[in-house]
Amino acid sequence: MKEWRAEKLMPGALIPLGGTARWYKTGSWRSEHPVWNEETCKQCLICWIYCPDGAIKVKEGKVIGIDYDYCKGCGICEVECPPEAIKMAEGGEPDG
Ligand code: SF4
Ligand code: SF4
Repeated sequence: MKEWRAEKLMPGALIPLGGTARWYKTGSWRSEHPVWNEETCKQCLICWIYCPDGAIKVKEGKVIGIDYDYCKGCGICEVECPPEAIKMAEGGEPDG
């Protein structure tokens, strides 16, 4: 059996670096946006675990908001939040 090596792949088949989504403001893709309610939030961090875009902003172990530069508006955080502290709202632009 021949040895398999990544260097032998065609250059077009490789992604040069990981984390490239950081270079693009993917939040412009949204058609809905999540609205976080600080009063209702229990700080369980489930939304932070589930968000596929790392768009739940956390500081010192607590949720502090949504990073709308990268949130794509998938709505997973709304579905997973136990106390329903995140609600999706129409439109890509966050209120206020
Ligand atoms: S809507 Fe999706 S991308 Fe945006 S914060 Fe919630 S889980 Fe993350
Ligand atoms: S899942 Fe809901 S309750 Fe838990 S940290 Fe996120 S917003 Fe707060």
